[in-house]
This record gives sequence, C-alpha cells and structure tokens, in this order.
Amino acid sequence: MKETLKFQAESKELLNLMINSIYSNKEIFLRELISNASDAIDKYRYKALTSKGDIALRDGEIFIEPNEKKHILVIKDNGIGMSHDELINNLGTIAKSGSKDFMSKVKEAKEKKDINIIGQFGVGFYSAFMVADKVEVLTKTIDDKAYLFTSDGQDSFSIEESEREDVGTTITLYLKKDNDEENYSKYTSTWEIKDLVKKYSDYVRYPIKMKEKETRNVKDEEGKDIEGKTEEVEVVNTLNSMVPLWKKNKKEVDEKALNDFYKSKFNDYEDPLFSMFIKVDGMISYSALLFIPSHAPYNLYSDNYEKGLQLYAKNIFIKDKCPELIPDYLKFVRGLVDSDDFSLNVSREILQSSPILNKIATNIEKKIVDELKKCKENDKEKYKKFFDIYGEHIKYGIYSTYGAKGDILKDLLVYHTLKHEDEYVSLKDYVANMTKEQKSIYYAAGENIDAIKMLPQLEKYKSGEEDVLLLDKRIDEFALMMLHEYDKKEFKSISNDNSDELSKEDKEKIDNLVSEHKRFIDNVKESLKDKVDDVIFSSKLVDSPVCISTKEGLSLNMEKTLDNEPGHEEAPKAIKVLEINPEHELFKALLSVEQDDEATKKYASLLYDEALLLEGYNIEDKHDFVKKLNEVMVKSLTK
Ligand code: ADP
Repeated sequence: MKETLKFQAESKELLNLMINSIYSNKEIFLRELISNASDAIDKYRYKALTSKGDIALRDGEIFIEPNEKKHILVIKDNGIGMSHDELINNLGTIAKSGSKDFMSKVKEAKEKKDINIIGQFGVGFYSAFMVADKVEVLTKTIDDKAYLFTSDGQDSFSIEESEREDVGTTITLYLKKDNDEENYSKYTSTWEIKDLVKKYSDYVRYPIKMKEKETRNVKDEEGKDIEGKTEEVEVVNTLNSMVPLWKKNKKEVDEKALNDFYKSKFNDYEDPLFSMFIKVDGMISYSALLFIPSHAPYNLYSDNYEKGLQLYAKNIFIKDKCPELIPDYLKFVRGLVDSDDFSLNVSREILQSSPILNKIATNIEKKIVDELKKCKENDKEKYKKFFDIYGEHIKYGIYSTYGAKGDILKDLLVYHTLKHEDEYVSLKDYVANMTKEQKSIYYAAGENIDAIKMLPQLEKYKSGEEDVLLLDKRIDEFALMMLHEYDKKEFKSISNDNSDELSKEDKEKIDNLVSEHKRFIDNVKESLKDKVDDVIFSSKLVDSPVCISTKEGLSLNMEKTLDNEPGHEEAPKAIKVLEINPEHELFKALLSVEQDDEATKKYASLLYDEALLLEGYNIEDKHDFVKKLNEVMVKSLTK
C-alpha cells in the first residue's frame, strides 16, 4: 500500500529555500548524505556490539554509485536504517522540535537574503533537493520491513512497502541537469565525487567506496606487462583516508584541518573561534576535539537547546550529545570525546554516571578555561569577540553556582569602564590601576551604557581619578554579588547608600544640615513614606539635585530585573534612600517654602519622580506627576 503524506509546513518552507538555492554551496549535499550514512553505521555498530550476539557486527561501508547516462547518483550504507515511523518523523519533519525559533530564523534569512543562516540548521537530508528533482530512500531497519520513500521535494512524499536485502539505506538522487542544453550533471563525474569526498568527508571513519574504470597494462603469463597492450577494468576504490582526526598525531593536525573538520562535522559555514585538540595519557586517557563556534547557535537561548559533546568509546560512537561532559555555562562548546577507558559492555546510562566521565569533564572544563585565559592575555581582539558573544555565560557560571566557580572564572571577566568605555578591562587591570586611597572596586549598573552614564551618582567620578565598571547586562550585578570581592577588594555599587563611609568632616557637615533643616527633611520623609526608607543629604552629587541610592542588598537595577521574571510578586525589593544635593540651587530655592508643610510635601513627590527619571526608571504615577508639574508651571507663569 502506498501512502502519500504532506510535508510539515515548516519543512515545505525550508525545501523551497533549498530548491531555490538560497544556499549557494550546493556541493555540500554529498557531505550531508555521507555524514548521515556514517552516523547510521555508528548506530548499527553500537547496537550490534551491545546486543550480546543477536545482531551481527559487520564492517561499515558507504557506497557511491554514479550513473552518468541516467543522471543518477546513489549513496548506499549498511547502517541502522529507518522503520516506517522513523522515515516519517525523520524525513517528513524538519527541525523536529518544531521550534518557532527555527522558522523565525528561516524567515529572517530569507528577508536578509542571508544564505549563511541556513547553514546553521544542519538541514542535512533536505540539501539533496538542491541538486535533485526527485529523491528515493530505500531503507530497512533491524526489526521492520523495508520501505521506499519518494519525494520531489514539492509538498508531499510517499511511502510504500518494498524489498531490501539487508539492513541499511540506499538513497537515489535523480539529478537536475546543470544546464538545459548540456544534458549533463557534474555530480555523476567520478572526478568530481572523488574531489568532494576528499574535501569534505576524508575523516569519515568508514570506507567510502566507488567503482571506477581503470586502464591497466595487460600482463603475460609470467606477470610481466605486455608492451602497448592495455585493458579497461573495473576496480573498487576507497576514496577517503578514514583516520578519525582525533586519532592522528597532534603534530600532524594543523588549525586548518581542525577547522575543516568542525565545519563538516557540525554543519557550520564559518571557522570556529577556537579549535582545541586535546590528548591526555595518564590515569585516564582520552582524546577530545573542542570548538567554540564564531556565532552563537541559533537556538542557544531556547529551552530546547541541548548541550553536550559527542561521546566515543574506543573509537565507537556512543552518543550524540552527552551533557555530562560540559558544564552549563559552557553549553555553547561543541566537539567530541573518545576514551579507551570506557567499557562498551556497560549500558549508556551507567556510562554517563561513571567516575571516568566526570574526571574527563572536569579536565575538559579546566582546559577550556585555561585556553580562554591564555587568549585574554595574548589576543585581545579575539577575546573581545568571544566575550561579546559568550561573556554572559561566564557570568552565569558564577551566578548559577552561587560563586563556587568564582575562583576559576573571575579572571575571564572583562568590563567596559567609565575611563575605558570602548575597551574591555579585566578585574586584574582594574585593581592594578586603583588609586592609593581606593579600597573597593566601583561599579555602576543600568540598562545600557548610555543610561548608566546618565546616573547622577556617576557625576563625581567623571572628573575624579577612580574608574568605575559599567555593568549593562542583567546578570552582571547578580554575578558580582556572588563573587563578592576580587583580590580582597570588595565590589561596591556607586548607587549604594554610602553614608556610613563618609569622612568625619563630611559627616559632621551633613549632621549639621539635617538638624538645621529637620522640618524640611521630616516633611519629605512623610510625603514619601511609602516609597523610600530614608531621606538624606548627599555628598556624592555634583550637577543633579537628587538621586536614589539603595542600602545593602538589591539595587534598583536588580529589582527591575527581578520584576521582569515570572513570580516577581514574591521577589525581594530594594531598600531605597532619596539623596538630596544640598549644594544644588533647587534645594536652596525649596528652602523658601521650608515653613509650608503642604508645599514641601508636594515638591517632595516631584523630587522623587525626577530622581527615578534620572536613574532611568519609569515614574510610578504619571498622572500625579503631570498634575503637579502643571501646577508648578502655572504658578511660575502667572506670577
Ligand atoms: P540530521 O542529520 O541533522 O539529524 P537530517 O535531515 O540529515 O538531519 O536527517 C534526519 C534524520 O534522518 C537523522 O537524524 C537520522 O535519524 C535519519 N537518517 C538520515 N539519513 C539516514 C541514513 N542514511 N540511515 C539512517 N537514518 C538516516
């Protein structure tokens, strides 16, 4: 019985993009199909090895058969094959998670005509439709019948029962002609195929074989060449060198080889930012290839992003994404690990909780962090690129472990600062440049650099010697709160109420002011009693009349971040203090109504709203603010 099914809407859209060849690099289809074949063989062999003999272990091989006359290219593997349902799920559905992210990116790519974005999705099988107008997949898995999938990549595909000798998959591409006149498709040329395999699939661990015609000298009975006499024979050649890259000697593998491997293995179009080849021989032996992509994976921030490294044991593929191998804060790292110390007889589940795996994971984490530290010292440009993309993850690593990872991660942190706004400054450099009197590391936090620079509390630092870290990421203050100090220097927000740190003279001056203007302060306090915890005279303001500072604990900026989180009703609140600049002309003018309680209270509420605005926040009661402002304007205009 033949069933005809429609492609999922998303798949259709993507197929359209592929067919209309938004991806200019059509030749990658072969790499994609070979890589699928190799994965399928991995899976078969793993199953056979753990089946206690029920399933025959056989050598994996991938066969390529071009037919120049018929414009057909066949790719055949003896891998795990697919069942009826797997065929539908795997080939009828793209982006199995069906994520909205995915489609929005595809749309974005289409609008921007950005072909590169497509390359990130590992479109795999679908790329066949870039070069073929019809594709057949004949497949059989271990415990199901054989099935034939057929599609022209338009909007439907059909599946029917079929025959196949053995477990495996045969993909037949009915190739498009390169151009109408020339009745020719270059992907049936054995030269072209050999080239492509060398270029993209040389490291595939199973032989990629192809029949070729070779011209040989005819030999006589004694095995000597007969001069001038040749014959054409058919031979089967293996096209790839088959040595997995990580099995090679480190000296033989240069950066280009690593980058090429990354691109073909992880479907990326760009070289990675970092490539690392690790070989460890000791108590535990393993090899690892690790990569940091030069752009964040498109779904890194979505819930369905799966972190993890590929896991091999004794060169046998075990698992595609082993999350235990990589900490959450490095979830963007891609790569693989192969160790001879794993026993294949244990199940995948046991393997995952094995102490060996944990040791390897710890070791890998350290190597990555060390490599990043080295880069930070030696290649500022590259580190900046890294930090722009992944810096928040490092901060998240400190925050999410309640500071436990602080020690190993603190030296990866870099910040823009008031004095070095366009650069990144490390904490080490910040501390080295602190003034003699300076005891703490100062920071100012806000939504973005421009908003931070408007903070009234920052005014006195603009002309002073002390530098201030500018924190424009939501996670920033939370991470520093966990870190608490660097090199025994505490982190201090410039927005913190610092009245207990004032010099004796300043304190005396302020105490005098408070007793002198007690009635004024009391009225302001009374007016704002639901909004602030205290009202004080400030010693930190220069040009602004007021600001809001906070006591130990949450800052205004953190309060705002938490307010955006689900369940924020429960979240703690910042303890706010209204600071008034006693040197400002506005304060001096206000003294004219010092004896008028009602007037002072009205102005107090305007002062508070003004402070909120200066700090970059919204006014809570806009109507009230406008009403009072209007009254003031009317009064001054009709005077
Ligand atoms: P990806 O390889 O990125 O998962 P593909 O579209 O290339 O995406 O393939 C989808 C799925 O179809 C694969 O994950 C695999 O399960 C299955 N598949 C593709 N080709 C083969 C094959 N030659 N043998 C067995 N399964 C295959």
